[in-house]
Amino acid sequence: MQLEFGRVLAEPDAAIRDVYLRQTAFISVVAPCGAGAALHVALVGNEGLLGTWLALGVNDAPLRALVRRAGSALRTPAARIRSELAAWPALRELLLCFCYVLHRQVAQTVACTHNHPVEARLARLLMTRDRAGGAALHLTQQFLGGMLGVRREGVTQAASALRARRLIGYRCSKILVLNRRGLEAAACRCYEGDSRLYKWTLA
Ligand SMILES: [Zn+2]
Repeated sequence: MQLEFGRVLAEPDAAIRDVYLRQTAFISVVAPCGAGAALHVALVGNEGLLGTWLALGVNDAPLRALVRRAGSALRTPAARIRSELAAWPALRELLLCFCYVLHRQVAQTVACTHNHPVEARLARLLMTRDRAGGAALHLTQQFLGGMLGVRREGVTQAASALRARRLIGYRCSKILVLNRRGLEAAACRCYEGDSRLYKWTLA
């Protein structure tokens, strides 16, 4: 199925209706903070599934998930996954593995938000394109501010600094990575952990 930009796939305290295996779509998991504010806490990348909380025996999603780049995904009703979980222990193990990955991402993002400068965090965030197929991402400054938990001015400043270093560029409101290796070097060291986790998940 096709997932359009901005579509909400999960809401906190609302029933998990479907499990998604993303193909080309880019799905962000956010923690709402009231008054329309929310912090991006995890990415469902090439390795990931959304809705794996079902393996924990819960019915409701703990976080919001929304489509940040339109694209395709496979969708399976939660009811079907629940019935399969009882008969197929390997499926439960797989979903629990993704719960672990999500947990690690959320914890690392919270630590990153409190300890690393915005420019390095923005570089880390932009490097996640590797986990979303490597394509250019439609990321407005307002959206990036929401993902990084900073005001738009803070994003402008950080993006300008990366642009001045010729690591990124803009085209038609999309951010292009011009120097992948340079951007990786500019990212905070959380990116190293992201990469290790990503490789471990795909292994
Ligand atoms: Zn960091």
